[in-house]
Amino acid sequence: MAIRAPRKLIRPLIQRLQAYVPGEQPKIPGLIKLNTNENPYPPSPKVLAAVRAAVDGRLRLYPNPSASALRERLAKLHGCAPENLIIGNGSDELLALATRAFVEPAAKLKSQISATQIQFFSPSYSLYPVLAKIAGAQCNAIPLNADFTLPALASLPQRGWNFKAALSFITTPNAPSGCGFSVTELDALCAKSRGVVVLDEAYVEFARENALALALKYPHVIISRTFSKAYSLCFQRIGYFVGHSTLIAALDKVRDSYNVNGLGQVAALATLDDLPHYQRNFRRIVATREQVTRELTGLGWRVLPSQTNFILARPPRFSAKNWLAKLRAKQLLVRWFKYPKVRNYLRISIGSEPEMKQFVKAARQIGAK
Ligand SMILES: *Cc1c(COP(=O)(O)O)cnc(C)c1O
Repeated sequence: MAIRAPRKLIRPLIQRLQAYVPGEQPKIPGLIKLNTNENPYPPSPKVLAAVRAAVDGRLRLYPNPSASALRERLAKLHGCAPENLIIGNGSDELLALATRAFVEPAAKLKSQISATQIQFFSPSYSLYPVLAKIAGAQCNAIPLNADFTLPALASLPQRGWNFKAALSFITTPNAPSGCGFSVTELDALCAKSRGVVVLDEAYVEFARENALALALKYPHVIISRTFSKAYSLCFQRIGYFVGHSTLIAALDKVRDSYNVNGLGQVAALATLDDLPHYQRNFRRIVATREQVTRELTGLGWRVLPSQTNFILARPPRFSAKNWLAKLRAKQLLVRWFKYPKVRNYLRISIGSEPEMKQFVKAARQIGAK
């Protein structure tokens, strides 16, 4: 029998899949990286010391399989029980686990759209449609208002939002717009929802309010958080969900036994021991964000009000794509998405104060030519 071409060995769904495209991570000396919303400031000295101190013979051993010390600390912080928490290899892993635990593949249940449906607003985190495709789910992307606010609750059904969808992802504050949604409107949306709602609060530390209370109020609402952005730990891959113990137990069943690396657990615990350090860091980034917003507005940019550590801004004179290239020529890397609603905008992560001074200087020079 002839050996089959490797391609034939792959599930058709995976053959067709367009993978998620992460932001570039170029290692070019002098390049100012404002494209993936990393925190410009390093982890606190105490966190770095804790990680260094943990690099010893114990790397030989498996880490705590359920990150129990970290879950206990987070439970205290959030006023819930450890059973309300699951830690992931970044929150991305948990988002994927949610699709596995809560959604039926569409092929199995054609008649029951809701059980096979993953929905989210558009634009939002571009990983969601990829996760939906991998899960073989039916994907329901509903546009936000033109100004990136949440459509009024009463208008959602006629816009195609399905309150019975098995799983809804809501990025709040939104990415890539940076705009915040109020807890009041999220509460009303959750109250009407019959499926699982994941409120993805990846940037919430830079926002005015957070919706954690909704995960403790409603049994079908989960809050997703990460140590990546606010706590400068992208490299360590630590995210978590807060939700009803029954949903958390279901997610726990489908995760890998040792999904969270040991040094990541050490780093996250040390972070929680040094929260005031990080709160100063958030205030600093927010102050830089507001300063850059004022300066770019003065240069004719349209900057959306941000509650995150990045801004979405429409530059003047040239197309956003053109600006991307012109900024790159000046060693400034930002993000441009080619999908229709945001193709006239650039997403700019808030860097350190000197980095943002350089950004504004470059914006002034390019805009004047
Ligand atoms: C960065 C980001 C995440 C993923 O964070 P990790 O914890 O690093 O996996 C999740 N959701 C949104 C909206 C993000 O921007």
